[in-house]
Amino acid sequence: MLLDILEEEIKEKITIENIFRIFNNFILPLITKEEQEFLVELEDFLIREIEPKIDLSKDVYELFPILGKGNYIQRLNPYGNDDHQKFGMRYEMLLAMATSIIDPELDLARVVSGVIFANPLFQHGKGDHNSEIIDQIMSGKKIGAICITERLHGSDAVNMETQVIEETDHLVINGEKLYTTNGPVADYFIVYGVSEPSDPRGSMYQVIAERGFEGLETHRIAVQSIPRVQIGQILFNSVKIPKRNIIGPKGNGYKNLFSGLVAERDAIIGSSLGISWLTSITALIYTNFRKQFGRPIYDFQGVSFPITQSFTELMAATEFGIRSATVYKKMLKYFDEQKFIKYSAAFSSGTKFLASNLAQKISYEAQQLCGGIAFTDNLRIDKALEVSKVQEIIGGARNIQLHLVSRAIRDMVRRLVI
Ligand SMILES: Cc1cc2nc3c(=O)[nH]c(=O)nc-3n(C[C@H](O)[C@H](O)[C@H](O)COP(=O)(O)OP(=O)(O)OC[C@H]3O[C@@H](n4cnc5c(N)ncnc54)[C@H](O)[C@@H]3O)c2cc1C
Repeated sequence: MLLDILEEEIKEKITIENIFRIFNNFILPLITKEEQEFLVELEDFLIREIEPKIDLSKDVYELFPILGKGNYIQRLNPYGNDDHQKFGMRYEMLLAMATSIIDPELDLARVVSGVIFANPLFQHGKGDHNSEIIDQIMSGKKIGAICITERLHGSDAVNMETQVIEETDHLVINGEKLYTTNGPVADYFIVYGVSEPSDPRGSMYQVIAERGFEGLETHRIAVQSIPRVQIGQILFNSVKIPKRNIIGPKGNGYKNLFSGLVAERDAIIGSSLGISWLTSITALIYTNFRKQFGRPIYDFQGVSFPITQSFTELMAATEFGIRSATVYKKMLKYFDEQKFIKYSAAFSSGTKFLASNLAQKISYEAQQLCGGIAFTDNLRIDKALEVSKVQEIIGGARNIQLHLVSRAIRDMVRRLVI
């Protein structure tokens, strides 16, 4: 912080403890007793272990091993000896919300390493090497990244050009991936490539590339809204991938990519909701203590009504988000039933659209309603607003989520209306 200009009386009130206290008031009634215990314990851990070590001039990665110590790199898949029952998408969503409240950039990088990178290893990986990588990622000492997007293929991700050649005992990969979150510092990369660009669905592979493999290069791209998270270009110059690093063999890469996108979107929903709770609660506290014209500014309906609207919309989106986590659990149970997979994919896209769009809107409103102080680093609002913009594009841009929902409801009409 360059200069502290926040009134002392207000500073004492806008603590992370108070933000969590108000957040819990809304969230605890929506979740089970076990989930409540998990959340309260997690918040306590974040306040004790993470908050004092947050340094906005340093990358978030130094905080990963601390999360690892608490087994908080992810909560989607069971891991570790303790608390075996406290895993699943609903727990992951709670983890994403609470971590985003304390540090939205940290949560963005964590979700990529812990969920988007690691989930395919939990779901489809086999063997000792796969388990070793999972252990390293869960400890927070190693970092994962996911390479889907290319220079010429963003939203149209399926038609990728990264080329895979299958040899007897290894694969060879050539290509360029862009915007890879954590890429410049990552130790492991899930990479998608095809052996026949004219048949990406039938020829897509999903493999793990490792830092140090010959021909693998990473370069940082400047993304100004999230200076503490490294985004990169990853080059594959005839990189040899041993067979043990193949997660999805020819054709299965495509299936794994698309089933994994639901988990990715759901985790992003949690992060977006966390950002919304952080900025709306900060605005609620600030405007109740900031005085102008001799009264708290919250007494003016021009301030209190938009804040109330934010809370109303956020409560609805949070119910919806938690519901999408429940649907994810059902999807795993009925994995062979196409109609559930389709429903779950469309549901997660719609909710991801709603939650990430709302995070940006709520954070922007909070900033305007608090005034100048919300543009400084004295409040957490401006940083959260910047991260919310990124949440809206990662995991597929806004239009692509709407595109997926629009196709699903079109198919429904064609199937059901006779
Ligand atoms: C900070 C950041 C981090 C990222 N992290 C990762 C990562 O870790 N790994 C990874 O693989 N990728 C990552 N991405 C890439 C991200 O997923 C893509 O940016 C996104 O999928 C959009 O692709 P694009 O940028 O090429 O845009 P384009 O696909 O060129 O789209 C541009 C615009 O056109 C719209 N559009 C495209 N097609 C349609 C259509 N059919 N109908 C309507 N509108 C359409 C889009 O919605 C968008 O508004 C990241 C991006 C950013 C900015």
